[in-house]
Amino acid sequence: MNRELAQTVREGAGGRCEYCRIPQSTLPLPFQIDHIVAEKHGGQTVPGNLALACPHCNRYKGPNIAGLDPNSRQLVRLFHPRTDLWTEHFEFEGPRILGRTAIGRATVHVLAMNTDDLLLLRLELLKKEEVFLRKICRETLRKGLPQSGPQWRGQSQPANRA
Ligand SMILES: [Zn+2]
Repeated sequence: MNRELAQTVREGAGGRCEYCRIPQSTLPLPFQIDHIVAEKHGGQTVPGNLALACPHCNRYKGPNIAGLDPNSRQLVRLFHPRTDLWTEHFEFEGPRILGRTAIGRATVHVLAMNTDDLLLLRLELLKKEEVFLRKICRETLRKGLPQSGPQWRGQSQPANRA
């Protein structure tokens, strides 16, 4: 695969695994370019068949293109990051990824998306996000509403300021 193509895939993914959504910045290992339909099944090395995958998802997915929906035991294809919408097939419940459809559930199962190490990592990320959001809230509260909003323009002494 040429560098330019790999770069296109990386940029398109916004620095996240296109299966479990974990940001590349949180893991020391570089994310890999995954053939969504593996080459052994005739999948081509073209942008429409390539996705960015974290080492975990890439390893568990391997050359798989289908899996069993754990609810119905029906054989279904796996999630396709180029043609499927993530939010249609998956959702987060705390740190856990749940399949919303047969395709989502089969993909969660085949890619083992909720192993203990992944759950711990996602919990850490959720904590960091919460700390970040709290900080933003605190700063907004401290700074208050904009002091020089349009309503003050042209007034030398805002009425409610000492
Ligand atoms: Zn992943």
